[in-house]
This record gives sequence, C-alpha cells and structure tokens, in this order.
Amino acid sequence: MTLPEIIQFVIDLLAVLLLALGIKGLSKVKSARDANRLAAFAMSLSVVGLLSYYLGTSGIAIQSWIWIIIGSITGSLFGAILAKKVPMTSMPETVALFNGCGGMSSLLVALGVAIFPISSSSLINQVSISVSIFVGAITFTGSIVAMAKLQGWLSTPGWTQSKVRHFVNIVFAVASLIAFFDLINGNTSSIWLLVIVSSLLGIGVTLPIGGADMPVVISLLNSYSGIAAAAAGFVVNSQLLIIAGAMVGAAGLILTQVMCKGMNRSLVSVLFGGSLSAQSTASSGSGEYTNITSCSVEECALTLEAANKVIIVPGYGLAVAQAQHTLREVTKKLEQNGIEVVYAIHPVAGRMPGHMNVLLAEADVPYEQLKEMDVVNPDFPATDVVLVLGANDVVNPQAKNDSSSPLYGMPVLDVQEARTVFVIKRGMSAGYSGIKNDLFDLPNTSMVFGDAKKVLNDLIGELKDLGVGEKQ
Ligand code: NDP
Repeated sequence: MTLPEIIQFVIDLLAVLLLALGIKGLSKVKSARDANRLAAFAMSLSVVGLLSYYLGTSGIAIQSWIWIIIGSITGSLFGAILAKKVPMTSMPETVALFNGCGGMSSLLVALGVAIFPISSSSLINQVSISVSIFVGAITFTGSIVAMAKLQGWLSTPGWTQSKVRHFVNIVFAVASLIAFFDLINGNTSSIWLLVIVSSLLGIGVTLPIGGADMPVVISLLNSYSGIAAAAAGFVVNSQLLIIAGAMVGAAGLILTQVMCKGMNRSLVSVLFGGSLSAQSTASSGSGEYTNITSCSVEECALTLEAANKVIIVPGYGLAVAQAQHTLREVTKKLEQNGIEVVYAIHPVAGRMPGHMNVLLAEADVPYEQLKEMDVVNPDFPATDVVLVLGANDVVNPQAKNDSSSPLYGMPVLDVQEARTVFVIKRGMSAGYSGIKNDLFDLPNTSMVFGDAKKVLNDLIGELKDLGVGEKQ
C-alpha cells in the first residue's frame, strides 16, 4: 500500500464508523440533531479522503479540480438554502427531491463509466453498471413524480386507477429487464433503452399512488437510492460508497416496513392497490354516529383543572393548525399546577415518519415527555384526562374491536381506557382512512369542536380565569 492509499483507507474507516454512529443516533429524538451533524461530517470527511488520495497521486488535472470545487460549493449552497427555507410541512417533498438527486447521481456515475470506461470491463463491473442505471433511473423519476404530486403540481390521471396501469408497468418492467441483461452481456447499445424504460417504470409505478401513501413510497425510494449508490460504489471501486449505500438501503427498507406496520398496510397494497380512502369508502360505508356528546372549552378547562394526570395525543390536525406552540403554553400551565403531562406518540400520527416528534420539538416540548405507543398504552386506565388534538385514525378502537374494519389490526392508542377523553377537531370529518371513529360515540368521550389552535387559545383563557398555572 502506498502512503496516499493508507491515508485514504484510515479516513474512510473513520468516516464509516462516524456514519454508523450517526445513523444509530437518529433512532433517539434527543440525539437526532447531533447524529445528523455527525453523519454530515462523516460524508464530508470521506470526500476529503478521496480528494487527498488524488492530491497525493496527482491523479486529477487542474481543470477537474476547478469543476470539483465549483460543484461542491454549488451543491452545498443549494442544500443549505433549501434546508433553511423549507417549512416542516413540506419535508416529505424535500426528502423526495433529495432521494431523486441521489438516484440521478448514481445513474450519471454509471453512465459516465459505461461510456468512458476507466478499466477493462469485468462481469462485476457490467452488473454494477446495469444495476446502478436501472435502480438510479427508477429512483430519479419516481422521486420527482412523488415530489410533484405532494407539491400539488401533478394530479393522478384517471387511467392510472384502472387495471391498464398494471399492463403498462409490466411492459416497462419486461423491456427494462431485456435491456438490463443485454447490457450485462456487453451490448452497450442497450444503455439508452435501459435509461428510458426504467425511467418510465419509475413514473408508471409512482404516478397512481395516492398523496397520503406517498411517505411510504418516499421511504422506499430512499432505500432504492441507497441500493443505487452501493452499486455505483462497485462501479467506481469505492468501499465507502458501497457501505454508505448499503446502510441507506437497509435503513430505508426498515423504515418502510415500520410505516406499513403502523398503518396496517402491506407494501404490495400501497404500491399496487390504489388509495386506502377509496377502498374503505367502498368497504365500510362509513356508518352513522348515534351518541355524540359535545362540550364547551370552559367544561374542558374545569375537568383539566381537577386532573392529576393528562395525556396529550397529537395528530395530523394539530400540524395543519400549526398549534404546537399554543399547546405547549397550555401544558406549561397544567404542569405549573402540579398536573403530570405526557404526550402519546403513535408511529404514523401525521403524514410522515416522526411528524409529531418534530412538531413538538419545534415547540420545545421536553423529549422525556414524549412516550411511544407501546410505553404509554398501559398508562391510559390510570389517566384522568386525554386530550386528542386533530388525531383520528390513531385512536380508533375499531382497529382492535371490529374485524370488518379496514383499520382492523392497526396498532392504536387505547385512549378510551382513560376516565375522560376530549377530542378537539373542527367537525365530524373522518381521518385519512375515511371511516367512522367508534371513540366519538363512547360515553366518556366529549367533542370540543373547533380549529385546534383556536380551541387551545380559548383554553389558555379559561385556565387563566380558573387560576391554573398562575402560581409560580
Ligand atoms: P387523521 O388523518 O386520521 O385525522 C386527522 C383529523 O384532524 C381529521 O379527522 C380532521 O377532522 C382533524 N383536523 C384537520 N384539521 C384540523 C384543524 N385545523 N384543527 C383541528 N382538527 C383538525 O390523523 P392521525 O394523525 O390520527 O392519523 C394519521 C393517518 O395518516 C393514519 O391513518 C396513517 O396511517 C396515515 N398516514 C400516516 C403517515 C405517516 O408517516 N405518519 C404516512 C401516510 C399516511 P376535522 O376535519 O373534522 O377537523
């Protein structure tokens, strides 16, 4: 081993270790920010390692250095500005865009090596180029379609909801496979056919998927971008890229599986089954409410004042109302009155993984108060009051009690076990699943109708009048 090779090896090893630590840290809310910085540092370190190798061996011409510097500055500026400007609610489309960039990079690297070979072509080389082009192109076009749909730039064309789409996608898939194996056999003229048909396959598979299923697809595309990067690592012989790509691929697959489990959906039904709302409207007929009790904000405040333990259940509606800061003001008042407050976090509450954690972190809710579903569920029977804020499906008892329900089998928060449940929402609209919520009919449930932010603001006023949180 030459000195530049040893230096690059050591830097790569360090970068991989830091990256692994970074990914591990992302699993805890408390360490997630630092973990993200650590992973970003690891990736910068790996770039420095690669460049130092070329500097040591004088393997890059001066013009290329200029391009590398211009590219790095432009990319970093683009990423930094985007990350600062994008609001939290637009995070899924931003992640989709970043996945698309990852897929495109792997595609371009493989195309570059296929058109301008850097070494004599081996079978491994041909296979990795083909995989990188195939998966990279699907990831790129699929992610761009996902981003455009979430952004509202693209709607779902009617024909994609019929069986025709399966036929069209099978044609693209078969054509991709023919070009794929042709390329492996050394027929380089198949490159462009592979690029075109796999790009069309990415569009064809993503286009029919409903907006709310999109986060699952984005997580899957994230995994694909990792697989494409790992294949590109084989193409350019970079162990670091292979390891980093494999980690991203595995992490994306695990996240996809967690989300499907949390929604009680199979990946096959997300990808090929159309939207859940459409299915549920057809199958359940929604049902009528027979025993709805509604109450005023004042009554809610009086019950809260007398409570010892309160559990907050945040949902999609809280994010829509942007009421997290107002909620924090309410809970501070309760805590100042000696009332124990915790937040119950369902894995798919909201519309993207970790949505509620991020939302509550924005309002400086202490991490220790966020309790995951399995941890908090046994606590409900000993809880005086549950405040359900803009959440619906994640608290629907049908998921446990009604085997004919489309939600049956989905793990839910057992809020009905608490003494009193207040559900704060604007009306009787269904949640994402489109079905009736049996919780709303139960005798210990009261509806407080109104926009979450408005109701919470009124609640602050009522608690103030009652003297709750006024003592220091
Ligand atoms: P839901 O979509 O089930 O319910 C949200 C509720 O919020 C609605 O019933 C709505 O009722 C209410 N709401 C809307 N706006 C407001 C507002 N301004 N103020 C007060 N309430 C409001 O949300 P959940 O969080 O309970 O469940 C998430 C659902 O999304 C699950 O079905 C999950 O499977 C799905 N999903 C989650 C993903 C994730 O990664 N987290 C990804 C994809 C899907 P009303 O209009 O009457 O006010």
